[in-house]
This record gives sequence, C-alpha cells and structure tokens, in this order.
Amino acid sequence: MTETGDAPRTVILTVDDDPGVSRAVARDLRRRYGASHRVVRAETADSALDALNEMKLRGDAVAVIVADYRMPQMNGIEFLERAMDVFPGARRVLLTAYADTGAAIDAINLVDLDHYLLKPWDPPEEKLYPVVDDLLDSWLASDHRPMPETKVVGHRWSAHSWEVREFLARNQVPYRWFPSDEPEGQRLLAAAGEDGLRLPLVITPDGEVLVEPDAPELAGRVGLATAPSAEFYDLIVVGGGPAGLGAAVYGASEGLRTVLVERTATGGQAGQSSRIENYLGFPDGVSGAQLTDRARRQAARFGAEMLTAREVVGLEVNGPSRTVRFADGSAIAAHTVLLATGVTYRQLAAPGVADLTGRGVYYGAALTETAGCAGKDVYVVGGANSAGQAAVHLARTARSVTILVRADSLTRSMSYYLVQQIKELPSVTVRTGTEVAEAHGDGHLERLTLRDTATGATEQVDAQWLFVFIGAAPLTDWLQGVVERDARGFVIAGPDLATGGEPPKGWPLERLPYHLETSVPGVFVAGDARSESAKRVASAVGEGAMAVMLVHRYLERL
Ligand SMILES: Cc1cc2nc3c(=O)[nH]c(=O)nc-3n(C[C@H](O)[C@H](O)[C@H](O)COP(=O)(O)OP(=O)(O)OC[C@H]3O[C@@H](n4cnc5c(N)ncnc54)[C@H](O)[C@@H]3O)c2cc1C
Repeated sequence: MTETGDAPRTVILTVDDDPGVSRAVARDLRRRYGASHRVVRAETADSALDALNEMKLRGDAVAVIVADYRMPQMNGIEFLERAMDVFPGARRVLLTAYADTGAAIDAINLVDLDHYLLKPWDPPEEKLYPVVDDLLDSWLASDHRPMPETKVVGHRWSAHSWEVREFLARNQVPYRWFPSDEPEGQRLLAAAGEDGLRLPLVITPDGEVLVEPDAPELAGRVGLATAPSAEFYDLIVVGGGPAGLGAAVYGASEGLRTVLVERTATGGQAGQSSRIENYLGFPDGVSGAQLTDRARRQAARFGAEMLTAREVVGLEVNGPSRTVRFADGSAIAAHTVLLATGVTYRQLAAPGVADLTGRGVYYGAALTETAGCAGKDVYVVGGANSAGQAAVHLARTARSVTILVRADSLTRSMSYYLVQQIKELPSVTVRTGTEVAEAHGDGHLERLTLRDTATGATEQVDAQWLFVFIGAAPLTDWLQGVVERDARGFVIAGPDLATGGEPPKGWPLERLPYHLETSVPGVFVAGDARSESAKRVASAVGEGAMAVMLVHRYLERL
C-alpha cells in the first residue's frame, strides 16, 4: 500500500489488484485532488481494509472509496460492504468492466453504491472527475464531515432542545450533542458565559453562540439557504417532500427557473421513514432520509434553488403572476406554483400529552431518538404502516416496544409484511383494544394511563418514551378562499373540479383544468396534499414529475 501527500487528513482510497490500473486510478485522482486530499492506494482488499482500520484509529476521515469489482481475495462489492463497517459515511464507487455492469447494478442496493465507473475512464475530466466532485460535495454536506462541527448544548427533556436537534438532523447538518448536565456541556456553557437557564445553546463551527435559536435563525447560521436569489421564477414549489423534490428535479432539469420552499427540512414525511420497502427499484428497501437526501442533491445539481425554514402562509393571484407570501411578510412570485405541502401528523388529544411533547412524547421522530431509547421500554401509538415501521426500527435498540392500537387487530390497517416482521420480533408486543387516556410527568414523560377500549378499565404504566403515529391531515388553511379544497382540507384538482364537464366556479378559461391543476389556473397540486391522492412515495414523486409537464403546457399557452 502506498500513500502520497501528508498534510490533509481527508482520504480518497482506491483498491485494485491490477498494479497498472491501480497506479493509473491513483495517478488521475492525485492529479486533481492531491492538493486537498490524501490519495491512498492499495493492491489487495485485505491491505485496503488494514489501511482503513488504521485510519479509523488515527481519526482520519475517509470521503471516497473506489474499489475494483474483480479482485481475487474478495470482490469489490464484498470489500465495500466491509469498508462500510469502518467508514459508513464514505462514498462508494465500484470500478467495473462493461461485462460486469449487472453486478454493479446489484451492488447499488446491496452496499448502497453511490456510483459505478466503467473502465477505461478516459478522459478523466469527463468520466472520473465530475463523479468524484459530486461525491466529495455530498460527503462534505453529510454528517461525516470532519471537525469543526456544530455543537448543541441542551437538556435531554427540553422540548426546544429536541426541536433544534431534529431540525439539524433532518437538514443533514452534522452536530454534536452535549447534555447540559455533563462536564463537557458545562464547560461549553461556561466558555459561552451562559448559566444554562436558557437552552439550547448552538455553537456554530466558527464559534458563534446562538441562544435558544428559532429555525430561520439556525438555518441561516448553519449554511442553509433561506433567502431567494430572485423575485420572479417560472415555478415555485411549496413543500420539499417527495412530490416537491420530484417537481424540483424535473422542473430544473427541463430548464424552468425553479425554487422550492420548505418550512422545516426537505424530505417531508418520507424523510422520516426508517425504511421504505415498496419504492420501485429498491428491492432491499431504502431509508427515507437516504432517498430524499439523494433527491435533494439531484435537484440542486440541476440548479433548483431550495429554501429551508421558510413557511409559506399566503397565495395571491395577480393577473398572470402568482405570489407566494412568507411568514415574515416577504414574498416571491412566479408564472406557476405547485402545492406539495403533504400532510402533518395528527396530535394525540389525551390530557397531558401536549405539555410533554418533545419531553418524552414525539410525533414521527423515531429515527432521531433511537439512540436515546437504547435499553429502554418504549411505547408506539398507531396501527398503520408508519407506526409499524417505527416499532421495527426502535426494536433494534430499545429493551421493549409496545404498540398501542385502538382496533382489535393490526391486520386491517398495516401491510402484511410489517405485521409478519413484528410477529417475529420478541421484544415487540402489540396491545390491541388499548388507547392512551392520559400522560403524566413532571418536566418529562414518566407514566401513561392506558384504557381498554372495550371495558373502559384503566391501568398506569411507567413510560419515558411515547411515539405517536395516528394519521395526518393537510395544513392548508392558508389556501382558504384561494383554491378549492375538500371537506378535510385536501386540495381538489383536475377532473375532480370539473363536475359534469363544467369548470369550477370562477374558472376564467375556456379549457377545463389540467389533471393536477387547482381551481386557479397555473396553480397545481401534487402528492398527499391532493384530494383523493394515493399517499405513497412513488405516487407523490410521479405527480411531482407530471405537474412539471402540465406547467410546460400551461406556460406554452400563457
Ligand atoms: C413514518 C412514515 C413512513 C412511511 N412509509 C412509507 C412507505 O414505506 N412507502 C410509501 O410509499 N409511503 C410511505 N409513507 C408515506 C409517504 O411518506 C408520503 O406519501 C409522501 O411523503 C408524500 O409526499 P408529499 O411530498 O406529498 O408530502 P410530504 O412528504 O408530507 O412533504 C410535504 C412537505 O411540505 C412542507 N410544507 C407543508 N406546508 C408548508 C408550507 N406552508 N410552507 C412550506 N413548506 C410546507 C412540509 O414541511 C413537508 O416537508 C410513510 C409516511 C410516514 C410518515
């Protein structure tokens, strides 16, 4: 194994058993990245793994691993799988001959391969560097970037501390968490001149201290875009879930000036799903965060602008222009708007729950909180797939997981595959016919009162963690009086508006609304926010793409 360059600690590792190819890859990589990265070359998978282990102990950061597929000791896929155990965040590239592309495609799922590179890769300017550039960018943007990093000092049972951590995690901003009652947290508080009464404290990588920051302040200071670069666009997408991201990818890639506005973090509900098993092309499942992070990078690569921590609170129609107003009163306008605002978790109404939200009671936060639940007894409320997925995910670390369902069985509301998975997990118990009657705790959740829905009998149980997944509703009140919505607030579109072939009331055009067009021409809706939508990731993405096609049609006739 050979190395070049000594100062920088970020590593690009390449392994190929053919010395000629190995030297050539390393040479090309050094030519472009040698100044900023350490390029490490190995000629066997074993020596590459030894090198990775050494680097781990030294605290080095490995950004990209390029492995040849055909190697005698173990093939490139096996090697990458083992490399993932050491550096799970490193981006993975498989080097293959044309004949091995089938294996490479399999590896995309097996080891979550980021790219496969066909030999020869000449000219590297076209075939190698753009790929590695992208991978380095995404690696830097992910939570594997080396120090310095954002630090959060807070209290475990503080709702605001939890919100800040959730916001950073969902926006892929790496941070380190320091409980305020532990020595390092206290040292940081002292250094910032704070007594710990105002928490959380966020310390940016530049050492700037933010006390109890709100989402827009936080977003601005940790490098997330919050301000639009223009006043007028072809397409404004409201909402950054799968539908919005799908539209941003297709809109920007097809030359539309596209801006996506998201009130918290891109990814939407899908970003919070621990494992999506039914999305086309991922036979082994994919985590929602991974899928939506890729979509976000894809949209950015095509030039879509993405604003986070900006909530849209108003839509105005001014002649041919559509104006979208933000909570702070500022606005942007466009020829067209796509509403992709999805749905938001329904709140559990039992007494005590609201006060303890973020202090032991969480909505759809199973992913962020898994580490905190290690070895603990955890309750999950809900009988649909989201509750099932969360239970399976939490069961990996929790001592026990109890699913509370009001109905008498899970089978009517949960997919068969999840019901089977749950049956096979010894630490998961399903309590049917049970509801949460009350939550108790002083500062954080300590106990639950559970009620038998058939007999009304109640019982108290000790509980520090409660995850609630009891359905969701669209948050579309801000559209009141602008676009037509159904009784539950979902936005009505296309054929559903044109009753008996007649256009909706006030419709100004001769043609009927296009398929995903709302009662306002040029305003479209896609995904879960649409009345009668399928409530699936694939259909949301598909509708986002389809909406862009309809935007083109609308713009052609403007
Ligand atoms: C835990 C869980 C697991 C799931 N598992 C699966 C699965 O395995 N398979 C599957 O097919 N589906 C699954 N789903 C359903 C799937 O995630 C949704 O159907 C899909 O995310 C809908 O996409 P969307 O873009 O329409 O809306 P959402 O994902 O809800 O995204 C909407 C976005 O809009 C933003 N927003 C809302 N209002 C505003 C506003 N006024 N201003 C700015 N931004 C706003 C929200 O913050 C959100 O990010 C799951 C859902 C959950 C919650």
